[in-house]
Amino acid sequence: MAPPTTALEFLDFVNASPTPYHAVAASASLLEAAGFTKIKERDSWASIVKPGGKYYLTRNGSSIVAFAVGALWKPGNPIGMVGAHTDSPALRVKPASKRTANGYLQVGVETYGGGIWHSWFDRDLSVAGRVLVREGEGEGNFAQKLVKVDKPILRIPTLAIHLHRQTNFDPNKEDELLPVAGLAEAELNKAAEPEAEGESEFQPLKALPERHHPAFLSLVAAEAGVDVSQIVDFELILYDTHKACLGGLNDEFIFSARLDNLNMTFCSIKGLISSVTSTPLDNDTSIRLVACFDHEEIGSLSAHGADSNLLPAILRRLSVLPGSSTTSPSSASFSPSHEDLAASTAFEQTLATSFLLSADMAHAVHPNYAAKYERNHTPAMNKGPVIKINANQRYATNSPGIVLIQEVARQTKVPLQLFVVKNDSPCGSTIGPMLSAKLGVRTLDMGNPQLGMHSIRETGGSWDVEHAVRLFEGFLGRFGELERRVLVD
Ligand SMILES: [Zn+2]
Repeated sequence: MAPPTTALEFLDFVNASPTPYHAVAASASLLEAAGFTKIKERDSWASIVKPGGKYYLTRNGSSIVAFAVGALWKPGNPIGMVGAHTDSPALRVKPASKRTANGYLQVGVETYGGGIWHSWFDRDLSVAGRVLVREGEGEGNFAQKLVKVDKPILRIPTLAIHLHRQTNFDPNKEDELLPVAGLAEAELNKAAEPEAEGESEFQPLKALPERHHPAFLSLVAAEAGVDVSQIVDFELILYDTHKACLGGLNDEFIFSARLDNLNMTFCSIKGLISSVTSTPLDNDTSIRLVACFDHEEIGSLSAHGADSNLLPAILRRLSVLPGSSTTSPSSASFSPSHEDLAASTAFEQTLATSFLLSADMAHAVHPNYAAKYERNHTPAMNKGPVIKINANQRYATNSPGIVLIQEVARQTKVPLQLFVVKNDSPCGSTIGPMLSAKLGVRTLDMGNPQLGMHSIRETGGSWDVEHAVRLFEGFLGRFGELERRVLVD
């Protein structure tokens, strides 16, 4: 049986998304194609956001929030949310990256997040990210351009086994994780271009060509479609040029980078889009929202991470969004205090009635290391999303949440699985406990099962993509209705 087309769509999505900036752009293009309108946090939404409408916004170009407003929305109504993250552990190009050693050109990199760094050795690496360029006449403006160099230009070679008999390979992150980018000879010939004479404009920082290898800069500039002199700064991330693909005898696997957590980013965006078709907004009293944050892998504490005001600020603005005109009071005989009073508690009411599915990848049982898993909680690949439970609140799941998601899964015929870690094992965490504590919103932690989390090449299930899309679609489309049926205050 051929795997569902959603798995193939995911492959396109992840291959187009080597960085959070690209993941946001790829999400935005799916949303645009489905009729979502781009809005900005810096604008007033008063005349833009309306019941029955579909919108999205980005912050820093690396976090994205999309939402569809039910046509019967009223201030204080519930918001059904799915949260995921756009970032993955990776190596990032240092601010001054130019290195040369023993005739090799090297590029200095900084580790981001808790990667399995030994998996980055002997890979055909390249760079992608964003470049800030000077545009226009005179002083001009500064604009962001996405770049993705589509050929392998970097490599971290392992040391031959003959020179290194160690069995536990734990490279030093500063000295041994440094990619080679070429041979110095080639660079010397290239660098002979004459400097422009007579122009000694004050530069607050060392010029980019002094901080990075000129050939590297030329490649990035060409990719951005600008001249090297237009580049003011950049944020570049290394990625494996080996494309994600289906794997296994029956195409049951996905072999890919960044399954954690672009798999959940893709499924949540796709689920939101599908929900609007399968359950039209006409009879919906709620708002359906998806938020995909940058910086989860480093603790979420940044201006656009899950620990920022991004989601609270958006929920506050949406909670007071007026409903359609049908219910507005007809005359001035009422003092305005009635409405003002209602609006003053709308935010708290919305928080009390809303629900967050914190969607982040889970661990499938590893056949060679089964003893590492709790014997009754060994999630299988392609058997559906995994509900993550932890008594010590590393995950935010509790019974009311399990009841709710189980009801969605029953109606949409999506299988679910359960996971707890062993008492003597470390446990990961997610944006779930953080956001539920910050907002006081009911939350459930869940995600598709995968192997090799944080490796440069992870393994997931091709059928689970479809499972998660259907679950999110069902949750977002039915939450307004289901919310009232879980009776715990
Ligand atoms: Zn994750």
